[in-house]
Amino acid sequence: MKILFDQDVIRQGIEQLGSNLRREYGQNPITVVAIMTGSIVMLADLIRCLDMPLRISLIRASSYRGGVTSGDLHVEELERLDIQGRDVLLIDDIFDTGKTLVEVTKHLSSLQPRSLKTAVFLNKQGTSQVAMEPDYSVFKIPNEFVVGYGLDYDDFYRNLPFVAVMEQADLEEHSRRLEPNAQSR
Ligand code: 5GP
Ligand code: MG
Repeated sequence: MKILFDQDVIRQGIEQLGSNLRREYGQNPITVVAIMTGSIVMLADLIRCLDMPLRISLIRASSYRGGVTSGDLHVEELERLDIQGRDVLLIDDIFDTGKTLVEVTKHLSSLQPRSLKTAVFLNKQGTSQVAMEPDYSVFKIPNEFVVGYGLDYDDFYRNLPFVAVMEQADLEEHSRRLEPNAQSR
């Protein structure tokens, strides 16, 4: 796989985001809302760069099955979201078309937080279909399919400590070794 960001570069990027957020929020308590599953690695690393009082809430965003427009997302709260009147930081793994962030932001806003900011680990260039931009992006990437640091292909590769481009040869290797009923191991 072609590595885009190695462990060291990622650590520096997350530390930089942490320092920007410490400047933004000071010692005000915040609620970090993380979109499952892709943002769990970023969540774990980022919160250890923050020193304000902080709560975590997990949500899941999934496409409506049988939905007509691809922008229709269902937001599932993994516990009741208690964010009314609170300063909220929404994090996601990657901003691609932007539809996920727009839909989740709409939902969170309806719960009347005191403030709502968004931070993504990766921001894909030239693929957005929405007017909104994340408030913080750790890295910009070209329009390629990437895995690692929480990002998956068929739910694999989230544990890679780096971010890599999944190329044609990697896809073939994947289906040969990791698909159910794969021939060789
Ligand atoms: P959006 O709603 O911005 O189009 O999509 C965001 C979601 O699409 C991400 O949370 C992620 O699940 C998926 N996604 C978009 N681009 C990539 C990519 O390059 N690699 C992976 N693994 N997932 C991606
Ligand atoms: Mg996702």
